[in-house]
Amino acid sequence: MSASIDASQVALAFEEHFGATPDGVWSAPGRVNLIGEHTDYNEGFVLPFAIDRAAAVAIRQRDDMTARLVSSFGDSEVVTVDLSTLSRDTMSGWTAYPLGVVWVLDQMGVAIGGFDLFLHSTVPSGAGLSSSAAIECAVATAFNELAAAGLSQNELVLVGQRAENEVVGAPTGILDQSASLLASDGHAVFLDCRTQESQLVPLDLAAAGLLILVVDTKVTHAHATGGYAARRASCELGAEVLGVKSLRDVSTADLPEASGLLDEETFRRVRHIVTENQRVLDTVQLLADAGPVAIGDLLTASHVSMRDDFEISCPELDLAVDTALAQGAVGARMTGGGFGGSAIALISVKSEAAVSAAILNAFATAGFTAPDIFAVSPAPGARKIS
Ligand code: ADP
Ligand code: MG
Repeated sequence: MSASIDASQVALAFEEHFGATPDGVWSAPGRVNLIGEHTDYNEGFVLPFAIDRAAAVAIRQRDDMTARLVSSFGDSEVVTVDLSTLSRDTMSGWTAYPLGVVWVLDQMGVAIGGFDLFLHSTVPSGAGLSSSAAIECAVATAFNELAAAGLSQNELVLVGQRAENEVVGAPTGILDQSASLLASDGHAVFLDCRTQESQLVPLDLAAAGLLILVVDTKVTHAHATGGYAARRASCELGAEVLGVKSLRDVSTADLPEASGLLDEETFRRVRHIVTENQRVLDTVQLLADAGPVAIGDLLTASHVSMRDDFEISCPELDLAVDTALAQGAVGARMTGGGFGGSAIALISVKSEAAVSAAILNAFATAGFTAPDIFAVSPAPGARKIS
C-alpha cells in the first residue's frame, strides 16, 4: 500500500460507493512517539511526531439521520446506522471510531445529521502507530468544519480521546490525538499532559543525514490490555504512597528516598516514569542545542528503562533494537504502549538498507514473523485535503 494519500483517489472511491461526490476529504496522520512512554497518564511529558501515513475520510452530509460508512480496509462492507438511536453501547467494530466521535460531539451539543463516509488509511492497524487516533482526528476535524462547531485543536484532542475512552473503551491519554491534531511538518510536538500546553520542536532529520526507521514486529500480545491496566495501577499506587497527585510531581532527585517507601516492583515502575520524564526534557533541550544526532543515547536509555524497569518490551522489540544498535544506529527504542507493536531506530540515511537487512535476517534466524520495516518522516497534522 502506498504511504501517501491521494485526495482525488479517495474522493473517487467515495463516489464509487455512494454515487455522489463528497463535500470534502480530510486527513489526519498516525504518529510515532519519539520519547516519553506511559508518561501521558502520569501527567508528564511526551514528544511525538506525526508521520507521513494518515487516515483520510471523504464525507457527504445527508438530509436524514442515516449514516453509511465504509473503509478500504480488507473487504469491509457498508455499515448503515440510524443516528437517532445511536448509543455508545451498541457501537462495535471499526465504525466505533468514527461514530464514537459523532456521539461525543452530540453529547457536547454539536448536532451531526446523517452522512456517508468513506475511509482510507495508510497507517498500519495495531502497529502502535495510532491508526485509531488518526481515524478519530480526521473525523473530528471534518465534522468540526461541516457542523461549523468552532472547536479548537485542543478541544478536538479531547473529543478524540473521549471517543477512544468512553466508546471504544481504551483507557488512553491525550498523546495520540495531540500528535495527530497539533503536528507540523518537520517538527515534533512537545506536550505537557498535565496542562495540555504544547510546543513545536524542530526535528529536521534530513538536514542531519538521518532518518527514523519503524520496525513493525506484527506482534500483538493478548495481555497488552491487562498489562497496560496493571502499569497504570502501579503508577497510581506509587503516587499514592509517595503522597503526590501524580508521578509528574516526583523528580529524579526524589528517587533514592522513594526506593525506601515502595515495594521493589512498584519502585521500578515509578523509576521508569520519573526518568522518562527527565529524558523527554533532555531530548527537547538537546534537539535545540545540537540537533537529532545528539539524542540517540536518550532513546536507547528509554528502551532499557522500558525493558528492565517498566517491563513492557518483548523479545521481538528487543531484537529489533539490539540489531539496529549493532548496525550503528544512533539510538533505538520500542515505541507505543508495548507488549508488541513497533520499535524505532534513528539511523543514518545511508545505512537504511543494511539496517533493514540485518533486522530481517535476525528475525528469520530467531524464528520470528518477518517484520514490516519502513522509514517515516515528521509530517503535518490533521487538515482538509480536498
Ligand atoms: P493502533 O491505534 O495502535 O493502530 P488500535 O487497536 O488502537 O491500534 O486501533 C486499531 C483499530 O482501528 C482496528 O482494529 C480497526 O478497528 C481500526 N482501524 C484501523 N485502520 C482501519 C482502517 N483502515 N479501516 C477500518 N478500521 C481501521
Ligand atoms: Mg490506538
